Amino acid sequence: MTDWKELESKYFMHTFERVPVVLVRGQGTRVWDENSREYLDLVSGWAVNSLGHCHPVVVEAVKEQVGTLIQTSNQFYTIPQLKLAELLVKSSGLDKVFLCNSGAEANEGAAKLARRYGERKLGSAYKIITALGSFHGRTLAMVAATGQAKHQQPYVPLPDGFVNVAYDNIAAIKAATTKETCAVMVEPLQGEGGVNVPGEDYLKEVRAWCDENGILMILDEVQTGIGRLGSLFACQQACVVPDVMTLAKGLASGIPIGAILAREEAAVFQPGEHGSTFGGNPVTCAAAYATVKYIVDNKLSDKAARTGKYFTEGLEKLKNKYSFIREIRGRGLLLAMEFDREIAQAALNACLEKGLLVNRVKPSVLRFMPPLIITREEVDEAVGILDRVLAEMNL
Ligand SMILES: *Cc1c(COP(=O)(O)O)cnc(C)c1O
Repeated sequence: MTDWKELESKYFMHTFERVPVVLVRGQGTRVWDENSREYLDLVSGWAVNSLGHCHPVVVEAVKEQVGTLIQTSNQFYTIPQLKLAELLVKSSGLDKVFLCNSGAEANEGAAKLARRYGERKLGSAYKIITALGSFHGRTLAMVAATGQAKHQQPYVPLPDGFVNVAYDNIAAIKAATTKETCAVMVEPLQGEGGVNVPGEDYLKEVRAWCDENGILMILDEVQTGIGRLGSLFACQQACVVPDVMTLAKGLASGIPIGAILAREEAAVFQPGEHGSTFGGNPVTCAAAYATVKYIVDNKLSDKAARTGKYFTEGLEKLKNKYSFIREIRGRGLLLAMEFDREIAQAALNACLEKGLLVNRVKPSVLRFMPPLIITREEVDEAVGILDRVLAEMNL
């Protein structure tokens, strides 16, 4: 049998710390490795497989489109991207859509859009305020936007124009705003930063401040959007409509995609000012349309809210049982368990042994982001495995 791990170390750049399993198949909330071992998947491709693995509506949509028209170029009109744009606009309350291929690319495009806005309407203001602990992607500019030293430090000097301030702190945003500021960009809840939930008023305060100063509010919903937090978009829970919103991860249930949504007044790109070869590709858009339509038609956001609540209750019971669990936090189906010591990797490894995939988002924090279709029985199964794992840690 081929040693795929050996092949990886020989041929693949060493950018990922891999979990030592080779996954070969997925169905619903389950995946299987090369030895046919089954796992319950609470990682979902990093909050991507919103409908689970290989959901029939996604598989059918892709199959049909891939045999019809795979790629043209954005010189031409194609139908799947226009159907998707209409669906995204009608379900978000925003006005215009641009399609690309990843979260970083969506945020990068949003930053460029903010600079065009600043140039046209704010006397060439170009600075974007972002948050410490944020994550906006891996391009050079988004590394500058991402307020985490470990992502920035290897790549200095970074592109100019990003100011990182404390998260969940409107005073910090106010203090950093100058006449050079064109936008504030934040996540509704910081995912990669460790599942950091801001206070209830934070997004409203950011909205009000941006309105007061005529600057753009950009919400990075790459991880929180498309049902994950228990509403189609997280901003709906805060009753806030941003000027610009970015999406990616869960949008096409596993096919690579990114999207920028904007209010009419903020959608200032002129022809030629931004573009993409693959963005809005027919196959990708067919998958995204099928995903979003299924989530809306079947009210999967509401289900995510209910299942998330149930999951949280299960995790809270574990917290009451194990004194080394410091906190359970998150919303919907983006949850985290923080320990009072750095045992997340050991817990992850032990879960793996028992057939459960979880994510270590920080040395002391596990993150859970299952497909939105996960059932209560599967949540019970996951909590049961976590219980046994934590009991066996003998702390
Ligand atoms: C994952 C993530 C990104 C980057 O998305 P990629 O598709 O990996 O480029 C950006 N913002 C947030 C909030 C994310 O969670």
